[in-house]
This record gives sequence, structure tokens and C-alpha cells, in this order.
Amino acid sequence: MKIGMHVSIAEGLDKSIDNAVNMGCTALQIFTRNPRGWTSKPLLKNDIVNFKKRLESSKIDRLATVAHMPYLPNFSSPEAVPFTRSLKSLIDEAKRCSKLGIPYLVAHLGSHKGLGDQKGIDTVVKAFTKAAKETPSDVIFLLENNVGFKHSVGSKFEEIASIFFQLKPLDRFGICFDSCHAFAAGYDLRTEKTAFSTLEKFDESVGLKHIKLIHLNDSKGEIGCNIDRHEHLGLGHIGKEGLGKIIKFANSKKIPIIMETPIDDRRDDAGNMKIAKELAH
Ligand SMILES: [Zn+2]
Ligand SMILES: [Zn+2]
Repeated sequence: MKIGMHVSIAEGLDKSIDNAVNMGCTALQIFTRNPRGWTSKPLLKNDIVNFKKRLESSKIDRLATVAHMPYLPNFSSPEAVPFTRSLKSLIDEAKRCSKLGIPYLVAHLGSHKGLGDQKGIDTVVKAFTKAAKETPSDVIFLLENNVGFKHSVGSKFEEIASIFFQLKPLDRFGICFDSCHAFAAGYDLRTEKTAFSTLEKFDESVGLKHIKLIHLNDSKGEIGCNIDRHEHLGLGHIGKEGLGKIIKFANSKKIPIIMETPIDDRRDDAGNMKIAKELAH
């Protein structure tokens, strides 16, 4: 089982590995930089060497290590300036991943801001095709499914499929399946049976073999709410039964699992790790 959390790099890139290991993680997700800005400080040689060394000697599988794109870029943006800026940041981030030896970069697909789904799809395809062309081939872009909030791109499986299969070369791309997002987009995951049939639907449109990462989150919102609010495992509207099914699916295909659950007085990261491991059996 490859499982871990999104871990903060506030104490340093290499320290994030120690913090993850202390929680029992065998997979890891980080932002390689401050996720709230457009600019990033270049990676120092020392940071790169220390991160790689620490990762190598840790219990975390390097191939289960992922970086998440910062929040601001919008790859469906219909406006030229934000689109160009977003594309540049995608290229920069993929280059940072390559330097750090991180094989996967997760990205949200963004919002077409009212110009229509087709325009959004075309723009996303343009962004990722260009990014693949201009970045080292040892980094794979993972497209994450969306909650279906107004004007957002990539919440319906058919839409993800129509984006995904236009991308070239296809081996530079995969899918990050977020359980909270799928549920908020209207796909039922509450029981073993409904989770199975949702996975089947995904298989029919995109193909389960393209899922390279699971984001395992419960949902504060109801099914189909189109709102992106993560909840502790089992305390949200998906619940333990369906989440357990997702975990078992991931383990059967050796897909890494990352949780992006809250930290509050009800539970911390270690608490969610414990629940996830229990639900695997
Ligand atoms: Zn996610
Ligand atoms: Zn989310």
C-alpha cells in the first residue's frame, strides 16, 4: 500500500520527507513552492541534493511522490495574459519536479469563465500539449477531476476523456482521481456497490489504467453539491464504506493514495492515516 498525505514544506523541502515518514507515509505530495503566488524562488543546488538524498533513504517510494500545482494558474482561461502566465508556471513547475526527481505533477483544469465547455476543453488541450513539448520527459502531468462548479472544466468523466485523448504524447499524461471531487460532481461513492459502479463508469469513458494517483478525501458537501470542501475520512457524506472500496481498488492496482484532509480539533493527519489503513482490510 502506497499511502501518504499532502505535507507542508514550511520547514524545508527535505524536512517535509521526515514529517511524512513520522506519520507512516509511504507516498508524499508537496507544493515545491509557495502555492499562493505567481513567482517562485529558483531551487538551490543544495535543496535539490538534500531532498533527493533524504527521499532515497526514506520509506517513501520515489515513484509515489507527487507535486501539486499552485492555486493561481487557470489552464482553461479564455484570456491571453492569464493563459500565458498559467502555461509558463506549468512549464516551470514541471522543470522543478524533474530537478527534484518527482515523477508526477498534479494540475486542476481550471475555468472557462463562461465561454463554454468546448472552448475550455480546447484551451486545456493546448496548454498541456505545449507544456509536454517544453519539459523533460521524466515528469508526467496528472489531470485532476473537478467538482463541477460553474464554468469549471473536467468534472464529467466524458469531458475528461475528450481532453485526455487529445493529449500528445499520451504517455506524458495520467489522471489524478479525487474522491471528494467526483462525489461533489454527482458520482455516488457512498457504498461498495455505488463506488464500484462509479469506477466502472470511469473505466468506460477514460479507462481506469490511466489513473496514476488517488486523492482520498471525504466530502463536507452532499452528492452533486459542486463544492470543493474536503472532510476527514468517514466524517463526511461519502463515508467509510465507499472510501474503503476506493482504497481497495487503489491497492489492487498499486496506485498511490494521497489524502488532502483537514487538520482540526477533531482529527489530524496521523488520525486520517490510521483510518485509511484500517479501511484497507
Ligand atoms: Zn485533490
Ligand atoms: Zn479539492
